[in-house]
Amino acid sequence: MSALQPVEEAQTRLLALAAPLANETLPLTAALGRYLAAPLIAQRTQPAAALSAMDGYAIRFADLPGPWQQVGSIAAGSWPDSGIAPGETMRIFTGAPLPDGADTVLIQEDVSVLADIITLTGSGPTAQGQHVRSAGSDFVQGADLAGAGARVTPGMIALAAMAGHASLAVGCAPRVALISTGDELVDPGAPLAPGQIPDSNAPMLTALLAAVPAKVVTTVRIGDDRAATIAAIRDAAATHDVLVTLGGASVGDHDHVHAAMTSLGAPPAFWKIAMRPGKPLLAGRVGDAVLLGLPGNPASAFVTAHLFLLPLLRRLAGAAAPLPDVAQAALATDLPGGGPRRDYLRAVVANGRITPLTAQDSGLTSVLASANALLIREIGAPLQPAGTMAPYIAL
Ligand code: AMP
Ligand code: MG
Repeated sequence: MSALQPVEEAQTRLLALAAPLANETLPLTAALGRYLAAPLIAQRTQPAAALSAMDGYAIRFADLPGPWQQVGSIAAGSWPDSGIAPGETMRIFTGAPLPDGADTVLIQEDVSVLADIITLTGSGPTAQGQHVRSAGSDFVQGADLAGAGARVTPGMIALAAMAGHASLAVGCAPRVALISTGDELVDPGAPLAPGQIPDSNAPMLTALLAAVPAKVVTTVRIGDDRAATIAAIRDAAATHDVLVTLGGASVGDHDHVHAAMTSLGAPPAFWKIAMRPGKPLLAGRVGDAVLLGLPGNPASAFVTAHLFLLPLLRRLAGAAAPLPDVAQAALATDLPGGGPRRDYLRAVVANGRITPLTAQDSGLTSVLASANALLIREIGAPLQPAGTMAPYIAL
């Protein structure tokens, strides 16, 4: 229990504590940000028939260089009532189906029109099929458009709508209880007695959770009190999927989360991570809920939320790949060597270059507001000169 867990090992153990929740079917736009419960299958072929990609004239490529006799006109939403014979053309508009016989679209900028005679004046199409969207060129009926566990993005919503879906089966959003602990904490904006500070973690986490499927059902704050901690955890476990305690996760006289879990018969499955900030993280199951105990220092809560809480919520919501992506950028400055825990340095990344912020104390909220990346420095890493490629997590 006392050895520090490597981050990846702790992430694996945490995700193993949780199974994906049940599914629900939601209207397309309500499914934004959720994870598909089943593959997205095309119910139709798109385009269903060859369509014009431009405003112009539907021709046979073999008839070039023309001229052509115009025998009709087709707009998007209509269907040609006849085809074209050699030497004939139809006026056609973007999104309109090609008449039988036509295989190419001559753009209107390339022609002159005299009564019903169309004459090529520009360079014209250079290949058969130009400016035509062939049937099935987007997707064909029955195609597997996205796998189970894929995130529903605005682009995927467009695809699902075009593929004939009005709703999507997605994983349910976990119900979350945020439990702030600390005798020193008061509501943001409330008057402060000496020794008190605003609770900044609760609103920070609520904001962070807006980016993943999660319903923050309960937000409570308790003092540094064993009985209150036990009661808050026991009550929340009955009606939430995830309990997040903030603070009190360490070993001080005023830290009660670990002992409260133990006295509820649910001792942490793991505790203490080889990372900085965030060492005193703990996690375990309490009844049907997963409890994640985050350290109270604002930067510690922030970093551990990205590395553990968000992945846990994504997993419960059915994500195929719940862990954060790691990207690479060139160090903008020399990076001193690493220590005995892996560092997640608050940093700014821009134009492929990453700069760690100078102040890294885990109590600093000013640094959290400026950072857009967590620069990863491995345990015992040597000094890395500016220009070295380094891994980071985008925030
Ligand atoms: P703890 O993890 O409870 O030992 O707290 C570590 C540090 O974080 C202490 O300085 C606390 O005052 C501070 N802290 C704990 N909880 C919060 C919170 N919800 N908002 C802001 N700071 C907090
Ligand atoms: Mg505390």
